[in-house]
Amino acid sequence: MASPIQENLVSKNAEYASKFTKGDLALPPAKHYLVLTCMDARIDPAAAFGIDLGDAHVIRNAGGSARDALRSIIISQQLLGTKEIILIKHTGCGMLTFSNEDAHGLVKKNLGPSAAAEIATLDFLPIKNLDDAVKGDVEYLKRSAAVPEDVIISGWVYEVETGKVRRIV
Ligand SMILES: [Zn+2]
Repeated sequence: MASPIQENLVSKNAEYASKFTKGDLALPPAKHYLVLTCMDARIDPAAAFGIDLGDAHVIRNAGGSARDALRSIIISQQLLGTKEIILIKHTGCGMLTFSNEDAHGLVKKNLGPSAAAEIATLDFLPIKNLDDAVKGDVEYLKRSAAVPEDVIISGWVYEVETGKVRRIV
């Protein structure tokens, strides 16, 4: 039995594949950059940030966290040749709404002591101030020995209310 979500995938994909013509793109991103942003459902990176298929890596996680994304960033740069990082967090981010204690408490309450023990040392990387979090992550990437000195790094905020980006750093 297919769930409604699975049915949607199958029907929409058939439609997409019937018109698909870009099967010959190269593996490394053609424009040699990566975008790191939040997993928030209201962000459409390709449309909002002007990314054509094959142009860039788009790395997404809760909050658009640089620390959380480091594994993918290293792979993007060292194996696939990207040389610029665009970091974009956003207004109304869920990561502004809870603390590590809250998240750990929820896991314990909803999933029980084994789950709580399993993730006892996990940092959920919540943020307190949006602009400061952008600056902090850009600083983290600039200081990281795992990110080459000559990589161009900028930090932005996307407004889910207006669809606009503004540069922070
Ligand atoms: Zn978010």
